[in-house]
Amino acid sequence: MSDSKAATWSVHRQDDNGNRFVVATGFAESDARSIVKEYDARSHKQLYWASCEAFERGPEEVRLRFRESSKEERRTLSPARVNPMHLLQVGVGSGGIAVLDLLARHPAAEAITLVDPDVYKAHNVVRHVFPPSAVGRMKVELAREWVMAIRPELRVETLVAAVGDSQHAEAFDRIAAVADFGICAVDGEPAKYAFDALMRKHRKPWTLGEVLSGGIGGFVHGFVPEGPCYGCVASFLKRSVTTDEEKAPDYSQPGGPAPETTVPASKTSIAVIAGLQAQLASRMMKGEASDFTSLLLTLERTPGVFEEAFRPFKFPIPRSPECLICRGDAGPADLDRALAEALDRLRHA
Ligand SMILES: [Zn+2]
Repeated sequence: MSDSKAATWSVHRQDDNGNRFVVATGFAESDARSIVKEYDARSHKQLYWASCEAFERGPEEVRLRFRESSKEERRTLSPARVNPMHLLQVGVGSGGIAVLDLLARHPAAEAITLVDPDVYKAHNVVRHVFPPSAVGRMKVELAREWVMAIRPELRVETLVAAVGDSQHAEAFDRIAAVADFGICAVDGEPAKYAFDALMRKHRKPWTLGEVLSGGIGGFVHGFVPEGPCYGCVASFLKRSVTTDEEKAPDYSQPGGPAPETTVPASKTSIAVIAGLQAQLASRMMKGEASDFTSLLLTLERTPGVFEEAFRPFKFPIPRSPECLICRGDAGPADLDRALAEALDRLRHA
């Protein structure tokens, strides 16, 4: 039927990610056009248009609105292309493997270096992805096989070492120099400081995920070379709650469990925080800036700690002017002098 009055018109929308949808269909032309005008009047950023054929067929498409998009908008409209990246991940424990499983699937991931000093133990099984039959093997080897099963084309190298181990300093420098992005999923404060120092030295961005004791919530942090260091962030947050990693219950103690002051997090809460870390990493890998350095997401209402569950808190954290690690204007000589002065003050305190 060529009578335009009888043609069915649809209203289409293109969202910020370039995805196109049919908003509604079955209209006469004038109605479809007035709906588009109405949407336009609400100053939506999204693109609306009307057409009288199925969108796929295209030729009858009438674009009622065309606006030259800014560079920034074009960047968000078209799926961002990320250059191939070499990821450096330290820690493939229960949280690390969950982040790895997500980021290894990232289209930009081209190479991954996995670092972990530990053997897979029986007590790991309940919160990890590997079966009891894997007990006794190195975690990095298991993690490597996991990645290769998903993405056989990836280059995956492993290093059996603890981050910060001076015996492997050269290897860490070599890896950090070629890596594009760091993922930190290690236990313990010294390891986090050591990874921060390594990434800062080689001016590489990185993320850190921390599950709080009992899985009541967790932090994800994004670090960039020109931003605050881990020391700045840790002192800013002055955490009143201990993280699970800081006082990990010692299951390996023979003769019964050691007294536990913290409750281990569930695999579910670990997966939530790992997912957030992977999401933050994906954004940072595209070069997108965040409006926070650290994000806290509560998962359980915990009297005296968290008022409610599922509540996010964003912390934009500045560099501490006193920070010896990352003070903006500190060159090596300044750093030496600052350290000497700090030690001097301690001696005379
Ligand atoms: Zn700092």
